[in-house]
Amino acid sequence: MKFSQVLMLCLWLRSTSTEPLLPTCACTHKTTMLHSSLMKPMGIVSQGKCFQKAEFPISGSRWIRLLEDEKTIYALRESLTFRPCYDRLDAISGGPCPNIISRSEWGARRPRDRQSLSTPVKYAVVHHSNTPQCLDKPSCIKRMQSIQNFHMNVRRWSDIAYNFLIGGDGNVYEGRGWDTVGAHVIGYNKISIGICVIGNYTEYKPNEISLNALKRMLSCLEFKNKVINKYVLRGHRDLGSTTCPGNKLYRIIKNWHHYYWFKFSSAN
Ligand SMILES: [Zn+2]
Repeated sequence: MKFSQVLMLCLWLRSTSTEPLLPTCACTHKTTMLHSSLMKPMGIVSQGKCFQKAEFPISGSRWIRLLEDEKTIYALRESLTFRPCYDRLDAISGGPCPNIISRSEWGARRPRDRQSLSTPVKYAVVHHSNTPQCLDKPSCIKRMQSIQNFHMNVRRWSDIAYNFLIGGDGNVYEGRGWDTVGAHVIGYNKISIGICVIGNYTEYKPNEISLNALKRMLSCLEFKNKVINKYVLRGHRDLGSTTCPGNKLYRIIKNWHHYYWFKFSSAN
């Protein structure tokens, strides 16, 4: 095998092992011809048909492999949109969005100032708070208040820095929210939504319940059209000189679809 073939194989293995946040559907956004594995035309499907299993080829390939009823079929990449399989979740839980604790519920102070965020944005940026974790709602509420006090009193920012924060209790806490520019990553605040996982993840991974809440929150951003369809997931350290969100959390998000998939696209 030539070196270039080995490299292609490694890239393919890596690309098929990335972890989507939710089962990812490939949905046709126009009338689309499906092809067999021998690239023979097999029939036309109309716009809006979703396939629950899609395999993503190496960057640059025009074909996406889809699975339906155990059959492997192919469609051209440009006729498909990739998104979490909401429909299945909608039936269960009213969409992918997690429970969000509002500012009034956690007793937030009023912001000194606010600037409207123009959505959908291109980036979702993950942070850690570099504070102790919180594992139940009362302690997460106290932690939220102390982070806000630190940002407003010591950093002199107009409000808590992030758009949303994730507690170790599995709740999402509203920071600046959906439509206000954050103060979490220099140069990107107006084109990103910042989500902070409460805790320090240099040595330890976040617990499963907070990772699930983070995944659902990212899917929720897509569901509510707060990020563009091909949004780019990044850790704070990718965009600024910092160790945030900690080695352990950073390693986890790097395997998620919107991180890896767009690493090799022109998105960055
Ligand atoms: Zn950060």
